[in-house]
Amino acid sequence: MRFNSSMKVTRDIPSTRTTVADARRSGQRIGLVPTMGALHAGHLSLVEAARRDGAFVVVSIFVNPTQFGPGEDYERYPRDTAGDLRQCEAAGVALVFMPAVADMYRPEAATTVHVARLTETLCGPCRPGHFDGVATVVAKLFNIVQPDVAYFGQKDAQQLAVIRRMVRDLDWPIEIVGCPTVREPDGLAMSSRNAYLSPDERRRALVLIRALRDARGRIAGGERRARVVVEHMRRIVEESRPEHVDYVAIVDPDNLQPVEQIERPVLAALAVRIGRTRLIDNLLIDLAGDGA
Ligand code: AMP
Repeated sequence: MRFNSSMKVTRDIPSTRTTVADARRSGQRIGLVPTMGALHAGHLSLVEAARRDGAFVVVSIFVNPTQFGPGEDYERYPRDTAGDLRQCEAAGVALVFMPAVADMYRPEAATTVHVARLTETLCGPCRPGHFDGVATVVAKLFNIVQPDVAYFGQKDAQQLAVIRRMVRDLDWPIEIVGCPTVREPDGLAMSSRNAYLSPDERRRALVLIRALRDARGRIAGGERRARVVVEHMRRIVEESRPEHVDYVAIVDPDNLQPVEQIERPVLAALAVRIGRTRLIDNLLIDLAGDGA
């Protein structure tokens, strides 16, 4: 398929600034979708949301080394520049910004952004430094692109909460839009890391959504003790004999603190290692058991 498009690709910061400035001068709202590439339908749903808002859509593709810990999968993280560009073009992206690591992190760089408390629960303790890496790179992307609005997936609920807090704390005039998790037909949340899964691991990975749906069912059925809901989730997860369960939790969706009594909508979240792959998923669940 060929596309008659005017999509631009920039690799350096000055030409990115110039391209965005031109779009802004022509009266367009700038919408940013930050990604690490290996794009799938989840990423494209964020692009679609930006398009629906009528924005000049900027997608950044950057496998950010500072959000990977030692021994994590930075080197083997899937990279597919040609495929990503094809998908962006087909989706109507206006600008793809693909910086090199050396341009984003100068050797003498000494500044990081740390969001306290929200980063101390859920994935925080399992991935020390991860959210500092995320907050810092997103802050840099915000300063380089200067979007009016930025789109993030609910799939990474803690990341979304951290970015919302950072933007509020630093008085950034950027609207943050959270977009629903896009799933495979059998319920597995789409993720670039799903490419790591063997067929057997792919089947076992379904325990994440199975546990989350069990939680939703119990809450709809009137269970209000978070401890009981979590126990059942954990039992379901362990049936698949995962290599490790990082956490299974019911937390407040805003401050991410554990909840005891379920009296308001909650976030059910879990992180599980299947084979060598660390998978996360979550559902926002209200008291009627509705949740996405
Ligand atoms: P990543 O490339 O994994 O860093 O993700 C880039 C953005 O896409 C983040 O805001 C993610 O939350 C979002 N995203 C990733 N997977 C999904 C999904 N399955 N559904 C919706 N958004 C997603």
